[in-house]
Amino acid sequence: MFYFALAALAAHTFLVSIPARVFFIYAHQENNVSFENLNLHPAIIKAINELGYTQPTPIQQQAIPELIAGHDLMASAQTGTGKTAAFMLPALNRLATPAKIPGRGPRILVLTPTRELALQVSDATTKYGKYLSRVKVVSILGGMSYLLQNKLLSQHVDILVATPGRLIDHIQRGRIDFSRLEMLVLDEADRMLDMGFVQDVESIASFTPAHRQTLLFSATLDSTIDKIAARLLRSPKRIQVATQRAKLENIEQRLHYVDDLSHKNRLLEHLLRDQTLKQAIVFTATKRDADDLADDLAAQGHVVGALHGDMSQRERTRTLTKLRNGRLRILVATDVAARGIDVADITHVINFDLPKFAEDYVHRIGRTGRAGASGIAVSFASGKDSISLKRIERFTGQRITPSIIPGMEPKYKPRFGQNDEKSRRPPQVAHKRNRAWSPNERSPFNHTDTKKSQPARFGRSTPNDNTDNRKRSLGRSSQFNNTRVYAEPGN
Ligand code: AMP
Repeated sequence: MFYFALAALAAHTFLVSIPARVFFIYAHQENNVSFENLNLHPAIIKAINELGYTQPTPIQQQAIPELIAGHDLMASAQTGTGKTAAFMLPALNRLATPAKIPGRGPRILVLTPTRELALQVSDATTKYGKYLSRVKVVSILGGMSYLLQNKLLSQHVDILVATPGRLIDHIQRGRIDFSRLEMLVLDEADRMLDMGFVQDVESIASFTPAHRQTLLFSATLDSTIDKIAARLLRSPKRIQVATQRAKLENIEQRLHYVDDLSHKNRLLEHLLRDQTLKQAIVFTATKRDADDLADDLAAQGHVVGALHGDMSQRERTRTLTKLRNGRLRILVATDVAARGIDVADITHVINFDLPKFAEDYVHRIGRTGRAGASGIAVSFASGKDSISLKRIERFTGQRITPSIIPGMEPKYKPRFGQNDEKSRRPPQVAHKRNRAWSPNERSPFNHTDTKKSQPARFGRSTPNDNTDNRKRSLGRSSQFNNTRVYAEPGN
């Protein structure tokens, strides 16, 4: 017996020392798997059939059996892969049997980085749990009334979907009883880390029972996520959804090289006049840019709204409802909107400014091409964006095709052949990368004519700009100066 225990211990030590990725199950679509074979409660199957889900997605095929078996789970899956149902269907399955411990506190807790995603998860949960009796779903989000939240938390809750900051407030005030908690889901864990929620998440977890089932979903699984998982999960099963490329297959990605802001504006105007564009999300780098651009477009007669983190929850919800109901044709948004928006009629995503992180590009463009439809993702890039473009292309494993609209060609042209990786090099820029640009310096564009070129002055702020000084160069103050480097495929 002693030798057996020793051997088991040695095997365990050996296994845990092997890099985690060895144990990833790669999720592929098996055509013969149906929701009926996944041991889900008939009331859940009825609801998903009604939603028109005919077959589980790869992440659902892999995750649901592991979760029903009670395992902890670590999965790399992005929005758009069906990950919400992958964790929520087994969560609801638990609720189909009565709680073992009496009380009113939540049995399932889902933490999400943003309010939008939390609302999306709550909506999906309500739909999936429609035919289960008395499943009470409560969302606790920042920016909403404490009074209402206190009331909701004083009543019976089954599923609590929350953003970490506000939830920790309620926990510290002793308003939540986690004694019944059976499952903790960390949705978009990488994003929660980026947003500085790691301590809150760990602290929330410390208030929940140690025997809970813990699930972690993240677009990327790197060593930081691994460390958190090691603290919060127990012998998790790991699933990698190998669909990053496939997922973008129905999205045509185009790239427009741009010279300056007015060039961007002209291209945007042209794209928005396209009759095939039903609804579009235009992404900007800053909240102020989103407001300014929305104002400009409204002045041009477009039916447009802005969405960003400085708006109250009520305004954000109102704008999203308008988008969903088709009462907004264009939404100008910051990355806060990149996750969670699921509107079938979004035919175009336009990256007016490229995202700060390659991963956000995938989230942004995933707002189009929903539910099997095709979509178009257009990105504007100037000379300074070459590194960012390379990162995006490495991350997605796809090249973004440069496009030209006749009459709107860029003055800046890649110096090398278009199929050459070096073509992503920026034009020669005579300044130090991290130095703030002064208006008296030469523009990074039009650099062939030094004497005539005027300093470029553009009306939009730089990504980190919170000041009133909005006259900055498009080509300077690189948003990548402070970029966190992701461990991307190929790095
Ligand atoms: P998610 O990744 O959870 O944001 O889901 C992305 C979209 O896929 C949502 O519109 C879901 O309603 C939809 N969806 C999830 N699972 C399935 C499925 N098995 N079949 C069809 N659509 C699904």
